[in-house]
Amino acid sequence: MRFASVTHDEQPLAVKIDDDRAIPLRGITELGRDTPASLLREPPLDADAAVRLSEVRWRPVIPRPGKVICIGLNYLAHIAETHREESEYPVLFTKFASSLTGAYDDIPRPPESGAVDYEGELLVVIGERGRRVRREQALQCVAGYAVANDITMRDYQYKTHQWLQGKAWDAATPIGPWLVSADEVGDVSKLTLRTKLNDQVVQEASMELMIFDIATLVATISEFTALEPGDLILTGTPSGVGFRRNPQLLLGDGDVVVVEVEGVGRLENRIVDER
Ligand code: MG
Repeated sequence: MRFASVTHDEQPLAVKIDDDRAIPLRGITELGRDTPASLLREPPLDADAAVRLSEVRWRPVIPRPGKVICIGLNYLAHIAETHREESEYPVLFTKFASSLTGAYDDIPRPPESGAVDYEGELLVVIGERGRRVRREQALQCVAGYAVANDITMRDYQYKTHQWLQGKAWDAATPIGPWLVSADEVGDVSKLTLRTKLNDQVVQEASMELMIFDIATLVATISEFTALEPGDLILTGTPSGVGFRRNPQLLLGDGDVVVVEVEGVGRLENRIVDER
């Protein structure tokens, strides 16, 4: 099943997607804390209120997550291009709910940064509370998957050893367009991710190449903090980021970035200079 957070006639709605229709979940305005996996398995559909999918505007699939945890350096080829060492523990950092934006929204290129870059990623949406979850049980906490673009201001990322200021710009991280339930996605390692910049493929990788798989990430993170319904994990980007290319391929006004994960979804965002 597929679910999304949308607006229709300015009204926020959590919806189930059924072909070309969006069917509202009764009494629920967005996906997140109030839509655990148990609810999504038997969603309270208001079929009489269904609207055309072509008439909705896509919000971030989870507009107000309690936590947004991101993984750095989760693919060997990306570690190699950044000239870093492989670690036995995943590199973790965070974003804020205010960092998120919709699957087709314009992304503001801030006047302060001269190095805006793309990072296509698979997004994990948590569906069940988990604290100190064993790796063997970890996938039970996952509601499903979506697509993310961890847009990064590289010059700000590398100002210090902490990446926060390069990773958490307002409205610069598109997530969506919808959440695909874990049972529909099946084996994540079979998925392929592709990022395109103005129709040119710049990243392409199988999820099989992740160093820390989804179960390991959920187990590792839940050791120190409880994961709750609607919490998000950005699972890291494969090789091919623009900053590490020769010559560099940084994002400019009017560029269009597409991130697609087969069987999950597709983002398409235009970069627009912020004034
Ligand atoms: Mg990333």
